Formats: sequence, C-alpha cells, structure tokens
Amino acid sequence: MQGSYNLAGQFGHTTIEADGRLCVCGNRGCWELYASNHATVQRFYALKKKSFDGSPILEMQKIITAAFNGDEDAISAIRETGRYLGIGISNIIKGIYPAIVVLGGVITSAWDLIYPEIIKEIRSRVFFEQNVSRKIIPTSLKERSSLVGAFTLAIKEIFSGYKITI
Ligand SMILES: [Zn+2]
Repeated sequence: MQGSYNLAGQFGHTTIEADGRLCVCGNRGCWELYASNHATVQRFYALKKKSFDGSPILEMQKIITAAFNGDEDAISAIRETGRYLGIGISNIIKGIYPAIVVLGGVITSAWDLIYPEIIKEIRSRVFFEQNVSRKIIPTSLKERSSLVGAFTLAIKEIFSGYKITI
C-alpha cells in the first residue's frame, strides 16, 4: 500500500487526541505521540517526576524489566501505551478490516501488560468485531499462528520502534 507520493500507511500520524500535543509532522494529537516507545518512556518519567533525554528503545527495555519487577509506574506507563495501541488499532480495523494485526517491537515483550488493554479498547470501539482475541498477535507468535496464511497487507512502519503488519 503506497498511495500517491508514497505516503499511504502513515497511521502513526493519524489523530488520536483532537487537541493533543503538536507533532513534528505539523498535526496535533498523532497516534505515535501516545503509543510509541518514546511516549511510553516520557509517561514513565513523568510519573517518576524526572526528565529523560536518552535512547527510547534502550529505556523501554529498562522500563519493561522494572514492570516485571513490580514497579507500579512502569506497569502503569506500559498499560497506558497498550490502551493507546488499542485505540489506534481500532481505527485501522474499522478502516481496512485486516484478517490479523501483527504487532512487533520491544513493547511486545510486555505482551501480558499491553494485550488486555488492546483487546479492551477494541471490544469497546469496534462493535462488529467478533474474534478480536485471535486477531491481535505479537511478532513472536507470527510463525506459529494458523491465521498467518491469510492475505496480509504490510504497512511499512507505524512509528519508531514498532511495526504493525495487517
Ligand atoms: Zn504526526
């Protein structure tokens, strides 16, 4: 899916908060400002009342480890990312109704935290969706999924650190 000017599939820059933060693309409230690794790291540091200027991907791994060790702020920051992932994926489902959605990137190592949030949002927002729990899978399960024989449409990139294949 390329579209005119090779610009199709930029779901990371679709609006998810009407009066949200200003994005580098010029829009306000872009999905990636709320669901990317960077957003998760910023959320975590805001909860800790600290500032951050390092590598979001490296920091994400630390935050996921902290969550596994019971850090409530890390758990909360990651769950909120799951919620925003669910909202954005709901929009994709309504737009193109994919057979499956495969989510990749470091965030998938916190699958037990994000998956329930993703599913909750989709169930509350996509009324015609029947089998949502079988539709959303992490990259690590892709090879094992019997659903991956279906027609798939690859979107190049959603936002930094993540890939979503539909
Ligand atoms: Zn944007």
